[in-house]
Amino acid sequence: MTPENPEPPEPTDPGNGPDPALLPKKFDQVADGVYRLRGDVKGGMNIYFVVGPDGEVVQFDAGTRFMTGNNRKVAEAFGGIDRIVLGHAHADHRGTAPRLGPPVYCHPDEVADAESKAAINSYMNTSELKYLRPRLLYPVLMRLWNGGPVKVAGTVEEGDDVAGFEVIHFPGHAPGQIGLWRESDRVALVSDTIYLVDSARLKPLPEGEASVPHPAWAWDHQQAKESVRKLASLKPETVLTGHDDPLEGSDLTATLLDAADRY
Ligand SMILES: [Zn+2]
Repeated sequence: MTPENPEPPEPTDPGNGPDPALLPKKFDQVADGVYRLRGDVKGGMNIYFVVGPDGEVVQFDAGTRFMTGNNRKVAEAFGGIDRIVLGHAHADHRGTAPRLGPPVYCHPDEVADAESKAAINSYMNTSELKYLRPRLLYPVLMRLWNGGPVKVAGTVEEGDDVAGFEVIHFPGHAPGQIGLWRESDRVALVSDTIYLVDSARLKPLPEGEASVPHPAWAWDHQQAKESVRKLASLKPETVLTGHDDPLEGSDLTATLLDAADRY
């Protein structure tokens, strides 16, 4: 390449990206080969799609059941999805999975909850929420979001490769919560390891702040804090969360450690 004859910029994911004509609204690219579909309440639920180096298309998380139609459109735009990997099995993360078709994977410690009918997991205790509105609203929402039990085809564990990402175990919010980590560009998909909202008040946090999800729906809140510290130790530069926009920055350590200490 010479300055007089520059090559045009490389299109992202040549050949493997989705067909734009088939995509629903609220769909965007959030990292190299990583896409996001937003949906449900205020577009606050994220489903991710990762195109691996060999062209495998993996869906990470499955939002709420109300996202099923748009999830199908995205699957079609990619020419099909090879497998769904659940970050964890809460009602707002497994919602579309039972009706899409591709095999569903999750961590071994999450299989029982994924295959359970329950919209509200046995360890959740929403009566611990201090504020009345979320305390009344969440149990109703969880039942609405729930898409029912998922048939788990297989499991993935820490260290496994998923579409060029490494599986990392982030237990706490759920026993078998996992994230996907790609060291080459420091991208982490983390499901609900970290929130960018104050989940007890249902209000956004100040810019640049993050929080550990509220103990009311944690399997083990202390482990949830440890998992946020584990995420910080990876030194991610893009953190793709189950809700909200990406958390980005060349040094997110302070943001993550502050969250682990505070909440
Ligand atoms: Zn959750």
